[in-house]
Amino acid sequence: MNLVFLGPPGAGKGTQAKRLAQELKLKHISTGDILREAVKEGTPLGKKAKEYMDRGELVPDELIIALIEEVVPDSGGVILDGFPRTLEQAKALDAMFEKKGLSIDKVILFDAPDDAIVERLSGRRSCPSCGAVYHVKFNPPKENELCDTCGTKLVQREDDREEVVRKRLEVYRKQTAPLIEYYEAKGLLVRLDASKDIASVYRELESILN
Ligand code: ADP
Ligand code: AMP
Repeated sequence: MNLVFLGPPGAGKGTQAKRLAQELKLKHISTGDILREAVKEGTPLGKKAKEYMDRGELVPDELIIALIEEVVPDSGGVILDGFPRTLEQAKALDAMFEKKGLSIDKVILFDAPDDAIVERLSGRRSCPSCGAVYHVKFNPPKENELCDTCGTKLVQREDDREEVVRKRLEVYRKQTAPLIEYYEAKGLLVRLDASKDIASVYRELESILN
């Protein structure tokens, strides 16, 4: 099964994708996670992507499309989380899948109001070592500010600062939201009420997929 998780930043795509991927044995591909790792490692891609990410803008399509071509396997099933984010990326994905003989089963739209998104992003904490994601209020670690899995001190993402969040929401509306219509027209879009708590959203996701 190949799924696309679409929706504004902070809607909870990564949180649900990590769990679902484990449960269904799918490969979780988060372009944001891959880019952050590249920035941390100082690779050529990371060096090019950093300035866009810091400003809350999208990394240029050609870099992202080349990246996705490298990481999507020929078989086995994937959850694409945070990709595609532009029409050009969506068309490139269609072409790539067609070449590989793959298809998208469903595009899940994570629907949540702006105030919930801002609260989620401002309280998000991530593990710089293993990538686990927490929230100070909605999904706190067992021990204050430390990762449950590896004990590393949690950090706040640079781009979760308020002024960058505003920019990212604007970019979502302008560049990514048009994909809703694109996938609706293909009959692939399913809306998910992402405003509920993490466990309820997961249950709804399961019922959509069953
Ligand atoms: P995205 O991948 O869409 O950017 P994340 O999965 O990183 O979003 O979630 C953003 C923040 O909101 C994280 O801190 C996460 O712990 C928290 N979160 C995720 N889903 C929910 C939910 N249903 N209710 C409350 N907080 C949530
Ligand atoms: P995310 O972790 O999905 O919130 O992504 C963090 C940042 O990485 C975004 O604000 C963009 O700068 C960049 N990014 C992630 N995925 C993409 C994509 N598909 N296209 C362009 N930029 C992306």
